[in-house]
Amino acid sequence: MNYCETMPGYSMHCVGNLQKIELYVPTDVDQSEILSQSRIVPLSKFIYILKDQANVFEVTPKVIHIFYDNSKNSIAFNRDRALFFNLKFYLELHEQTCKNKPTIDAMTYWFTIYCHVLAHNFIQLHNTEFEFYYSSFAQAYMPDLIELTKKREVKSKTFNIEIFWKNFNRILNRN
Ligand SMILES: [Zn+2]
Repeated sequence: MNYCETMPGYSMHCVGNLQKIELYVPTDVDQSEILSQSRIVPLSKFIYILKDQANVFEVTPKVIHIFYDNSKNSIAFNRDRALFFNLKFYLELHEQTCKNKPTIDAMTYWFTIYCHVLAHNFIQLHNTEFEFYYSSFAQAYMPDLIELTKKREVKSKTFNIEIFWKNFNRILNRN
């Protein structure tokens, strides 16, 4: 299982943008999967989380791209330093609980995904060198993430590992 496959030969196209963030779907997927009216609210909230964290990592929001793909288990990937995040995982894991504002679970989840895809700026493979960059990112930017959670007045200690795996396995089993 590869959660960040860059999918060589996998073609996606831009179908629009929201708040200057480009939106993508695979060529065989209908654009309504990401552009429909019912997606606007969760999509805006997802963008809010990702932009907030772009500040944490001191990267321009221009690196953020969002795609929707229900057929692959790709959470996110880095293609030529453009970061792509799959809306599907936000919808499945966080939409329900982030209706009012981002939860600590959502923030820490997307923080670690950011660390992962940013580490791919330096190395493609998932090897020990990758592990070094990934953990260095996490260590370097964790204090700013903690500051951000305080600024957003996000409650901590809500994470429930059993619920997380239950939701996560549900996503995987569906495919
Ligand atoms: Zn990866």
